[in-house]
Amino acid sequence: MASKQMRCPECGSAVAANDIRSPSFTCKQCHRELSMPRRYWLIVRLSTVPVAFLLCFALGLRGIMLFVVCAAALPLVGGLVVIPLSYRLFPPTLERYLPEGSLGLGSK
Ligand SMILES: [Zn+2]
Repeated sequence: MASKQMRCPECGSAVAANDIRSPSFTCKQCHRELSMPRRYWLIVRLSTVPVAFLLCFALGLRGIMLFVVCAAALPLVGGLVVIPLSYRLFPPTLERYLPEGSLGLGSK
């Protein structure tokens, strides 16, 4: 299945998933600061919880251990499973990075 390539909104060059950082990262071609849409991050982070829960449940964990191990495994499951999978299946539309409190009225 061919997935949509993530592209820089400023110069249109392809952006690799490995280059994406939070809260911002630099385009290797035009050196503009880019970011993920906040809504995308929120959805990815929220979807990590049920995935971690199902993985821990599938591993046979039950009761309080299910919740303890699930909570401890959230960063791992997010970083190794949910984020790479969502980049591949539902690549985000990258946007220019606007720092907190900025109105985006700076340089173009
Ligand atoms: Zn660029």
